[in-house]
Amino acid sequence: MTCTVSHDPRFDALVLFNAELETLAGGMRWCEGPVWLADHRCLLFNDIPNDRTLRWSEEGGLTLFRTGTDFSNGQCRDLLGRLITCHHRSRSLTRQEIDGRLTTLVSHFDGKRLNSPNDVVVHSDGTLWFTDPLYGIANDYTGGRQASEQPAAVYRFDPVSGALRRVVSDVGGPNGLAFSPDERRLYLVESGAAGDPSPQRHIRLYDVAADCCSLSGGRVFHTIEPGWADGLRVDEHGNVWSSAGDGVHCLAPDGTLLGRVLVPERVANLCFGGPFRNRLFICATSSLYSLFLNTRGAQQP
Ligand code: MG
Repeated sequence: MTCTVSHDPRFDALVLFNAELETLAGGMRWCEGPVWLADHRCLLFNDIPNDRTLRWSEEGGLTLFRTGTDFSNGQCRDLLGRLITCHHRSRSLTRQEIDGRLTTLVSHFDGKRLNSPNDVVVHSDGTLWFTDPLYGIANDYTGGRQASEQPAAVYRFDPVSGALRRVVSDVGGPNGLAFSPDERRLYLVESGAAGDPSPQRHIRLYDVAADCCSLSGGRVFHTIEPGWADGLRVDEHGNVWSSAGDGVHCLAPDGTLLGRVLVPERVANLCFGGPFRNRLFICATSSLYSLFLNTRGAQQP
């Protein structure tokens, strides 16, 4: 039973006729933040309501990585391979040092607390770009209700200088984000302001300035249907693989829907992994799924 639906002949070259959606693990409440650790041949992801980070590997299956994570969400690795994590409850971004200690990288902007960092990516210059919507402080399920001190925004953080720059401030619910392979574009999910009964829900596209310090030209790249997007990733050809209401949608660099991967649960986030980065790992509500593809995730810096 195939799990893919093609909408464009270009999609057929990206999937494998003999690869099926696999269920790797279950029992989570709401999982997000997948990151592949190639040197450990494992995936880390967060089960947010249970306030824990889980590890999955082909050899070991599902195991516990850490608990008491301050309701961690999006993750990536920096240029030295250190784990960078968004935390809802502590409203911060941390880095796990090679001795295991956690360093808080950023928790305030302009003297006020961040809201609840949601997702983070690293640029090849070492800066960390992250979203800060209100979702994680809007209820007690995924972080704990707290008062917001500033609007939702997207930030660029330089861990060398400590400089924190707000690069987007006009999006109601900034969520997942990803650079194009040449890093000239930034894709940003707008999943709607918390509590808004009819929110704007798009994937937006920005041009990255030549000095990589700011964004311009924000416009709608694609509107996901059904549902809305949360996390997304980009493959080696620049195609965008986005979460959606019925699974994962693959979008060409021009915004055309190429095809869909149907997933039985609501998808929150995804990432590429495996030795060839050709395996899509999908965090979908209570379960972790995967699908081998005939494309690779864009090379991470
Ligand atoms: Mg998210």
